[in-house]
Amino acid sequence: MPADASPSATRHRPAAVAPHIRQVVLKIHSRCNLACDYCYVYRHADQDWRSRPRIMAPGTVRRVADRLAAHLARHGVDRVRVVLHGGEPLLAGVAVLDRTVRMLRAAMPSDVTLDVAMQTNGLLLDEAALELCHTHGIDVGVSVDGDRTANDRHRRHADGRGSYAEVATALRLLARPEHRARYAGLLCTVDLANDPIAVYEGLREFDPPRLDLLLPHGNWSAPPPGCHPDDPATPYADWLIAVFDRWYSETPRRTGIRLFESLIALLLGGRSGTQALGVAEPDVMTIETDGTIEGTDTLKTTTASVMRTGFDVFRHSFDEALRHPSLAGRPTGIAALAPQCRACPVVGVCGGGLYAHRFRDGVGFDHPSVYCADLFRLIRHVQERVTADLEALRGRSVPAVGP
Ligand code: SF4
Repeated sequence: MPADASPSATRHRPAAVAPHIRQVVLKIHSRCNLACDYCYVYRHADQDWRSRPRIMAPGTVRRVADRLAAHLARHGVDRVRVVLHGGEPLLAGVAVLDRTVRMLRAAMPSDVTLDVAMQTNGLLLDEAALELCHTHGIDVGVSVDGDRTANDRHRRHADGRGSYAEVATALRLLARPEHRARYAGLLCTVDLANDPIAVYEGLREFDPPRLDLLLPHGNWSAPPPGCHPDDPATPYADWLIAVFDRWYSETPRRTGIRLFESLIALLLGGRSGTQALGVAEPDVMTIETDGTIEGTDTLKTTTASVMRTGFDVFRHSFDEALRHPSLAGRPTGIAALAPQCRACPVVGVCGGGLYAHRFRDGVGFDHPSVYCADLFRLIRHVQERVTADLEALRGRSVPAVGP
C-alpha cells in the first residue's frame, strides 16, 4: 500500500474549512434529580422535554454515531468532543452510559480522536460511575455554585432540600489522587446575592483544575436577575472583577477560570475557549433523547420556536441540520453583529457576548448582549491589568493590547 493510501489518507479533505461540528451535546437522560430554580431546561420557554423519552434508546445512539462519523469524514475532521448531558446523565445508569460510549467509539473512523466528557450535578457520582469514567476516559464536569449558602440558594431537590452535602461528598471523591485524572472542573452560575470571594473560595476547596463562571441566562425581554439593561450599573462586572482580581494575583494559580483565560487569550490575539466571548462560528450541536437535532442549548432561554430545527438523526444528516439558523446557518463574525457592537472598541474580545443573551421578542438577535455594560467594564478592567503587567515585565512602555 502506498504511504498515502491508508483509509485516513483517502478520506475526503476539503481545501477550505466548511462549517462543521466540534462538539455534540448528547442528552442521554431527559429528567433530573434536582429542581434548580434557574434551570434552562425545565424552567424556561422550551418545554419539549415533557414529551421526550427519558433515556436515549440504543437505536438512536447508533444513528447519532453513524451521522457523526459521516459528518467528520466529509469534513476531514480528526477530533470531536461528545458531552454526555441531560437532565442528569447519571440517571441513565452505568450500563446505559457504558453501552452509549462503546457505540460511539465503535462508529468513529480510526483516525478520529473522540473525547468524551460528562456534565453532572454529582449526586450519583460514586465509585461505580468513576470506574466507568476511567474505563472510557470520560472527563467529569460537576455543577456547583460555591459554598453551601451559595449552592443551596438554587440547587435544591424538588422538596426544597439543598444539594450541597451530596455534591461535596462526590467532589471529595473525584479530587482523590486515583480519580483526579478524570476531574475536568466545576461549573458555577453567578448569583449577585452570593459573595464573590466566598463563592470562589468555596469552589477552590474542591481543588478543581478549572472553573467555569456562567452568567445567568436572560435576554432583553427577560432580563437576568438584578440586571436592568438601560441602567449604567454593572453589577455582574463588579462581581466578576472581584473574583478576577483575587485569581489573577495568586501565585501560583491553583485553578484555571475559563472566562478569564479566554478573555486574556483574546486580548493577546488568541482564541476563546467559551461561547460567551469572541466571534467563533457555532460549532455545538445538541441531540435530544428522541434524536431531535437542536442548536446550542442556551437558546432554550429565548423562545421555543427558535430551538426547533425540524431535523432529527433518523431523517437528516448533520450537514443538513447545520444550515438551520440556530446552528451554522446564522450569519457569524463581526459583520453579522448589531451596529452598536460593530462600532464597539472591545468587539474583538466581546463578540457581542453569548448569542442567547442578545435576544429580544419580536426582533430576534440583532442586539448587543443584555450584559453589554457588564462585558465592556469587565473587558476593560482585565485589559488594564494585563497591559500593566506586560509593561512591568518588559520594563518599558508597550502599546496597549488589542482589540
Ligand atoms: S461590549 Fe456591548 S457593544 Fe461591545 S461588543 Fe459587547 S455587547 Fe456589543
